[in-house]
Parts: sequence; structure tokens; C-alpha cells
Amino acid sequence: MSARTAVGGVAGFGVRGRHAAARPRAAACRRSSPQRDTGPGRISRRRADRGIPPLRLPGGDNGTVPTYRDEVVILRTHKLGEADRIVTALSRRNGKIRAVAKGVRRTSSRFGSRLEPFMVADVQLYKGRSLDIVQQAESLGSYGADIVAHYDRYTSAHAMVEAADRLNEAEATPQQYLLLVGGLRALAKGEHASRSLLDSYLLRAMALSGWAPGLHDCARCGRPGPHDWFVAQIGGMVCDHCAPAGSARVAPQTSSLLRSLMAGEWSEVDAASAGSSAAASGLIAAYAQWHLERGIRSLVHVPAGDPR
Ligand SMILES: [Zn+2]
Repeated sequence: MSARTAVGGVAGFGVRGRHAAARPRAAACRRSSPQRDTGPGRISRRRADRGIPPLRLPGGDNGTVPTYRDEVVILRTHKLGEADRIVTALSRRNGKIRAVAKGVRRTSSRFGSRLEPFMVADVQLYKGRSLDIVQQAESLGSYGADIVAHYDRYTSAHAMVEAADRLNEAEATPQQYLLLVGGLRALAKGEHASRSLLDSYLLRAMALSGWAPGLHDCARCGRPGPHDWFVAQIGGMVCDHCAPAGSARVAPQTSSLLRSLMAGEWSEVDAASAGSSAAASGLIAAYAQWHLERGIRSLVHVPAGDPR
């Protein structure tokens, strides 16, 4: 499928270079890795030196502490008790994660500010029975401040993380992680209109999950396009024969803009008229509401055709 090929990379948000640059930083944090600081090897050796049997910690069958580390984007948080938070995150390698961050609502917390929505962090987690526990968090990208300061960026970012939160476990792939990081980063930098960044993100996120809309050939019969009708329930653009009565006609500039948003052709997207942008946003919103379970509630707050 051509749409799937188009979203294979995340170059449209320019994330590839930046994220590649972030990797050495993650590697540089290795001094805090379990093998060197608090890992079972060191604990065992120390205790063995003193003639004490290895410490058995809960959760591990062999006396090891079941920890793991990953890169995450924070999707949302809830308060828990007096000072803790439950953090929901999309990780690079472990799908969606729900974890308890203890004490992060105290002002003295070492990493509370790194676990706010839209933040990208390298975290180490302890594997718990129901929820994991955050042990450490190093910031990889603080996009929050630049996003929260602008209403259009904030509402777009909110809709992005809500869409990511709708992914089920099988869909929470490394490609989805990279796409979301790229989208938030582009929003924080104000590279393009916020609504266009959101629209492009939604099309590509759905395509990565196997819900790519047909934007050229007829989504029902496959007749070569371009066509004039868009029907979310059928799966995108459809031909004259397949369009049900009452379908809305789509202007050629709008269907062309949809293809540019999917492909990340930003010079085309930036040059589009306000009317085409608003029409494309409406079609993408209808498609997302139809195909994503429970829809995206925050989409109604995102301004159409907004400034950068
Ligand atoms: Zn058709």
C-alpha cells in the first residue's frame, strides 16, 4: 500500500536527525545502569564478601531486581495519594507503560518535572506486579514549556497524545513512538501551523496502525484516482460509483492537500489556502473519530487554520 510506504519514515517531521542525536545522550546516562550502581551483581558481591547469602528481592525468581530502561513520551498523569503520580507513557521498546512515580509532586522531587505530559525521557523502571515504578528519569526533550505557552500548540499536542493513548498494545510500536516524538518536537519549534502538524500526525499514526485512508484510488473498488468524494466509513476517497447518496464532494486542492499531509510534503502543506486546510482538517477529524476507538475528545478544542 502506497500510504503505508509513505509513512514508513518519520522524516516529514525532521525527527530522524534529532533523534539520532539524542541516542548518544541516552548512552551517556549509562553510569546509572543497574549493572554499575544498584544492580544485583554488585549487591551479591558485597553481601558475598561479608559471608551473607544473596539478597532475595520481591518479583525476581533468582534474587535479581527486575528493572528495565526505555525512552518514553509522557501521555498523561494522574495524582495518586499525597505525593505520587501514575504516569501513562508510550515507550520506544516496551509499548505503552503505566507506572507509579513516587514523591514527584513534592517540590524536592529529583525528576518530577521530567514526567509531565509531552516530555520525552530516558527512564529506568522497576517491574511491579500491577504497575511499574519509576526509579530514575533523565530528560531527552523538554517540549512542554514551548507547547504550553501557545494555545494552538497545546491543544494540538493534547490531541496527539490522546490519539497515541488510543493505541492498543499491538499498535504501540517503535515507529509510533518516533512519530509522536517528531510531532511534539515540531509543535514545540513552531515549524508549521499546529493544526497541520496534528493533521499530518493523525494520518500517519492511523496508517502505522493499519488504518491508512485511501487518498488516491477508490477506497472501495480500487478504481484509479483521483476521485471527488471522501467517505470516512468506507475508508477515504471513493469514485462516483461507490459514493453513497449524500456524500460530501471534496475539492481537488483538498484531496491533494490530504496526500501532502500524509507524505509530509511541507512546502505544499504550508502553501495551502485556509479553506483547503480547514476542509482537510474536517475530513481527517471525521476519519479519526470513525476509526479510533472512542474518538479523540480533545480534537474539538483545536483551532482550525491557526497561526504558527
Ligand atoms: Zn469505487
